[in-house]
Amino acid sequence: MAVTEPAPAVASATQPTVAHEGILRRQSLRESAARTYARSLPIVPVRARGLTIEGADGRRYLDCLSGAGTLALGHNHPVVLEAIKKVIDSGAPLHVLDLATPVKDAFTTELFATLPRELADNARVQFCGPAGTDAVEAALKLVRTATGRSGLLAFTGAYHGMTSGALDASGGAPDVRVTRLPYPYDYRCPFGTGGEQGAELSARWTANLLDDPKGGVPQPAGMILEPVQGEGGVIPAPDAWFRGMREITAARDIPLIVDEVQTGVGRTGAFWAVEHSGTVPDVMVMSKAIGGSLPLAVIVYRSELDAWRPGAHAGTFRGNQLAMAAGAATLAFVRENGLSQRAGALGERMLGQLRQLTAGHPVIGDVRGRGLMIGVELVDPERAPSGGPADGPLPAAPALAAAVQQECLRRGLIVEVGGRHSAVVRLLPPLTLTDEQADAVLDRLADALAAAERSSFRDEHRRPGPPRQEQHHQEPTGTPC
Ligand code: PMP
Repeated sequence: MAVTEPAPAVASATQPTVAHEGILRRQSLRESAARTYARSLPIVPVRARGLTIEGADGRRYLDCLSGAGTLALGHNHPVVLEAIKKVIDSGAPLHVLDLATPVKDAFTTELFATLPRELADNARVQFCGPAGTDAVEAALKLVRTATGRSGLLAFTGAYHGMTSGALDASGGAPDVRVTRLPYPYDYRCPFGTGGEQGAELSARWTANLLDDPKGGVPQPAGMILEPVQGEGGVIPAPDAWFRGMREITAARDIPLIVDEVQTGVGRTGAFWAVEHSGTVPDVMVMSKAIGGSLPLAVIVYRSELDAWRPGAHAGTFRGNQLAMAAGAATLAFVRENGLSQRAGALGERMLGQLRQLTAGHPVIGDVRGRGLMIGVELVDPERAPSGGPADGPLPAAPALAAAVQQECLRRGLIVEVGGRHSAVVRLLPPLTLTDEQADAVLDRLADALAAAERSSFRDEHRRPGPPRQEQHHQEPTGTPC
C-alpha cells in the first residue's frame, strides 16, 4: 500500500504550537471530567475539508472518526455548504419549532424517497430534539403509548444514547423494564459456537423466552435493535438473524424499532442498513448523517402507531432549518451518486486488506464490518482464553488499542476506539473516501499497529512479575458518542 497523502506537516513556527497548547491546557482546566475524545485526541481542529482536518499547530490528519459517523460526505462538502448558504441568503427563519417551512417540506420529501417503500407509503415522521438519544426516547415513548405496555427488549452490547431511557436500553445499565437478549457476536459468541449456529441459538433463546409463560418477560412494548452495533464493537447482525427478529416480533405483535443512528445514509453499503436483510421495521430512529453535519434527529414509523396526543413529544430545537437543508443535500448527494454502493465495495476491499494483516499480527483477533463501518478487535495472544473453551477467543487488549490510537495520531490518522472491552480500533471514514485515501489510511494504520505492538512487546519484557497483569485492570478508554 503506497502512502499517497502528504505526510503530516509538523508546525514550523512556534506561534501556532503555543496557541494549540494554550487552548488544550485551558480546555483541561475548564471542561468537565466527562470529556471523552478530547482526552485521547489532543488536537485543536481549525480547518477541515473532506477527509482532512488541520490542527492549530499546523499538523494535518486523515479523519476516520467523521464526527462519530456523522459526516457522510466528510468535512465541509461543497453541496452541504451551498445548501446552508442558500438558506441563510434567502432570509428564511432559522428557528421555527415544529412549524411547516419549504425547507422542512423538501427535507421530508427527500427523506421519504430514501425509505423502504413499504414503510414510506404508510409512514409518519416526528422531528425530535436534535440528538440521536432524543429520537431513541421518542421511539420508546411511541411504542409504549401505542401498545399500552412498558417492557422493552434490548440487546447485549447495545448503545442507544445517554438520556435515561436510551441508557436503560443500552448494554451498560440495567433497568427492570428492559429484558436483555443475546446479540449474535460471532467472535465472542455467547453460546460458544459462533457462525450461523450462534445466531440461530440467539434467535431461539429470544422466541423461547417470549413464549414461556414463566419466563419472567411479560408482553413488551417493543424491541430495539442496531443492524450493526457500532459502539458495541462494530458487530454486523447476520441478515437471516435480523429477519428472524422481524418474524419473532411480528408474530407476537411487538413493534420493532431499528436504531439507524450510526448505520444510516449509506454507511453500511445500503442507504439504510435494514435493506441488507429486506426487513421493514415499525419504527426507524435516525440522526447523525441525516443532518449533513448539523444536529437533527427524527423517528419514522408506521402510521398505525401514531397514537400520540398533541404535545406528547416535543422539544424546542426540532426545527433546525440549516440542519434540514444540509441534511436534504446530503441525502440527495448520497442517493444520486450511488455512495452506498461505493461504501459497500470500498469497505469490502478495506476489510480484505486488513484481514491480510492478521497473518503477521497475532494481536489482531478479528477484522469485521459492513461498508465503511470497520472494526479491528485487538487481543492478547500471550494469555489464555478467559473462562471459555481452550480454543475460544483470546482476552481483549484495551491498552494496546489505546496505544494504536496514539500511534495513528502520531502518523496523522484519527481513529476511534470502542467495543465492549474498549479493544476495537474503529474506522468510520466519509463515504467520499477515494481509493488512494483508503490506501493511505490502511498504510498508516498498519504502521501504527506494528509500532504499538513492538513497544508493548518491549514493555512486556522489561516488566518484572506476571505478564500483562495491568490489562485486566485497565480502565475502559472507548468513547461512546
Ligand atoms: N444510537 C446509536 C446506534 C448511536 O451510535 C448513537 C451515538 N453514537 C446514539 C444512538 C446516540 O446518539 P447521540 O449521541 O446523538 O445522542
